[in-house]
Amino acid sequence: MSHEGIRFVTAEEVLRDSALAAAHQAERLPAEAITPAKVRVKKSEGTGVEIDWRDGHHSEWDFRWLRDACPCATCNSEREAEGRSIGEHKPKSPDPLALYQAPPRPDEITSIGNYAINIKWNDGHQAGIYSWTYLRTVCQCAACHSTKS
Ligand SMILES: [Zn+2]
Ligand SMILES: [Zn+2]
Repeated sequence: MSHEGIRFVTAEEVLRDSALAAAHQAERLPAEAITPAKVRVKKSEGTGVEIDWRDGHHSEWDFRWLRDACPCATCNSEREAEGRSIGEHKPKSPDPLALYQAPPRPDEITSIGNYAINIKWNDGHQAGIYSWTYLRTVCQCAACHSTKS
């Protein structure tokens, strides 16, 4: 029995757990951890977003990940319905005739007050408000990632 000890969780449980973990983590984050010292949007390179935080931490995400992590209500419920976690890409359509989709890129990034950025994507979607707190809690660096999973 090599499968002993593995707990199978439903997608819903995973989502609830990660949402709870994110909320829990956000509560404990000091102001320097959720205040960017420097934000780099690599729009012309087409790669992604990098943030240096006031507490010295560095985070980066590629655009595809950010598109699939859009925190708006529509994307949230879509992910929930499909059992995808934040940043997880939709499975590719098995239909070989499916239209080619250009990789996600921001058409426009606007700062909202001093707490968030709004990304208008090249697929027309622009409902997502990425707050600094949200971005910090979804930091993909090895250190943050290992404490989350
Ligand atoms: Zn969205
Ligand atoms: Zn990190």
